Formats: sequence, structure tokens, C-alpha cells
Amino acid sequence: MIIFFEKDIDIEDALDKIIYISEINFSHFNFGENYKGIYISEDIDKEFILKNIDGIREMVQVNKPYKFVSREFKKEDTIVHIGNVKIGGEHFETIGGPCSFENEDGFMEIAKNLKEFGVKIVRGGAFKPRTSPYFFQGIGKDALKIMRRITLELDLKLVSEIVSTEDIEVFNEYVDIFQVGARNMQNFELLKKLGKCNKPILLKRGFSATIEEFLLSAEYIVSGGNMNVILCERGIRTFEKSTRNTLDISAVPVIKKLSHLPIIVDPSHASGRFDLVESLALASVSAGCDGIMVEVHNDPENALSDGCQSLKFKRFYNMNKKIHKIRKSLF
Ligand code: PEP
Ligand code: MN
Repeated sequence: MIIFFEKDIDIEDALDKIIYISEINFSHFNFGENYKGIYISEDIDKEFILKNIDGIREMVQVNKPYKFVSREFKKEDTIVHIGNVKIGGEHFETIGGPCSFENEDGFMEIAKNLKEFGVKIVRGGAFKPRTSPYFFQGIGKDALKIMRRITLELDLKLVSEIVSTEDIEVFNEYVDIFQVGARNMQNFELLKKLGKCNKPILLKRGFSATIEEFLLSAEYIVSGGNMNVILCERGIRTFEKSTRNTLDISAVPVIKKLSHLPIIVDPSHASGRFDLVESLALASVSAGCDGIMVEVHNDPENALSDGCQSLKFKRFYNMNKKIHKIRKSLF
């Protein structure tokens, strides 16, 4: 049971009172004035609670295994703020950038071009979770430092993937959004720690995760106190071999019904092919996603990772123009 308190209730006083009157195990939450209260996992006597605790606005029974990410908990869409940039609700963003940061000049060229196309958030991997230990693993902290300098210079926001709890401090210093990759969607220790951060988290769906498991991973972050979670559908593994993964397009409207969190789509990792990225992006936009994240490279043929699914500037520009046309006509 979720119990919401009135706006003007002092949460500390209310909690003291609950501890005093009952033996109930509860945890409290505070996501701003309209969303503060307590969560009780066991069966409780509603009348008893209502009679003994002042300032209750509403009691909501959430029948899903996840609570705080559910639509029952919060009816209106969550808008994630990345400084002055917003994702969710009416706010849509196209995120672009290389799979991995490779060198300063290359990243600068990509970032400058994307900025010119109106992009506000750029991506760049520094710590790469590669399938083979013999593949390029990323440049690490030095890459983050350079990307931070360039994105500040160009007034862009930066998203990069974190793979270990040990790097949280460094990421806090250099990135605007922490990305949790598909391979770490169920790294629960990492998720719990990110729940204590106050920067936005871009959580990608694991390639064999159900939507329920995906939302439970988001719940790990949100139940820790960080509501700034952007979900990302990036394709799931199926028997189909013509694409790297299979984009689960229905995940977008399904998640919109189940959760208030924004959901974006990554058609690059979903398809593994640059020639399919635009079609999947446009389909995702039509399905109602809150953003698209694609890989863009100045020289995809020679990229150190995922060149085959990376767009050149012109293709990115054309895709982005169509995305905005579709959004204008549909929403
Ligand atoms: C990435 O975005 O670079 C990445 C590794 O994606 P995923 O975790 O979805 O495979
Ligand atoms: Mn990649």
C-alpha cells in the first residue's frame, strides 16, 4: 500500500507518529511535494491508519511487483531534466554520437556536426562492455575528461556508459547522464548505488529481459530515491538473424501504459545495420517514444566499434528531419 501525504505535512513528524502508533514495517519516500509518503508491503488495516495518522491525501494499492515506477503511483508522465534539456511528457530528444570515444579530433567533429543539426545530448562510450576481451575496450577516464571539455565548450549534454560501481565518482564529475547498458541491466549493486545519485540514469533493456524485469530494474534505482530514469528499448535477442537484435516496438506503448517514466529507443543496437536505423527510428517515433539514441561516426568504415550500425552525418540529418515531421503530424 502506498500512502501519500498532503503537501504541507512535515514528513519527519508524520513518520515519528507512525513509529509511535504501530509496529508496521514501512519505508518512506519523498519525490517532491506531491509525491511524499510511506510504502507498506504487508496487509494493513486502512481504517486504523486513516484514524491514527493525520494529513493522508490518498491511499493507493499497487498490484504490480514494481511500485514507484508504475502508473498507479504516478499518473502523469515524468519529465527528466538534464540541466535545461528535458525528456518525457511533451519533450523529445534525438541523442547521437559515436559508440566509443576514439580520439579528440574525431569526437569534436562529430559533436560539432550534431550541434549544428540541433542535437542537445551527445553520447560517447569510454568504458566499453565488449563481448570479446580482445575487442577495443574503450579509453576510460581520459576519454570522459576530453568529452566533458568538448561538450562544455559546445554547450552539449553528455551521456556515457558506466560499468562499475567504482567509477561512480568519476562519472559524477564528467557526465550529465549515466548510461547503464543492456549487459548491466541486472547489476543490482550498481542500480542501488545509482539510486543514491542525483543525476539522470539512462537504463537500457537487457537483451533477454522481459518488460517486467526491465521495470523492476528501474525500480531498484527509483526506490533508492532517484526518479530521473530514462528507459531505453534497444532490441531483444530472438531467433531472427537478419538484424543484430529484434526491436521490440510494442515495448514503447506497453511501457507507456505501465510506467510514468520516459522511454526512448536505440535503433542502432536493435538493428546492427546503418541502412535500417532510419526505418526503426521512424517506427519508434510513431509508436510514441520520447527520444531516439543513435550511433553517429565521422568515419564509420574505420570505427573501432559498431561502425556497421553508425550513421554518417548526412544520413543522421535526413533521419532527424523526418523524425520531426512525424512528430509534428502525430503529436
Ligand atoms: C552502447 O550503447 O554503446 C551499448 C553497448 O549498448 P547496449 O548496452 O544496448 O548493448
Ligand atoms: Mn555500440
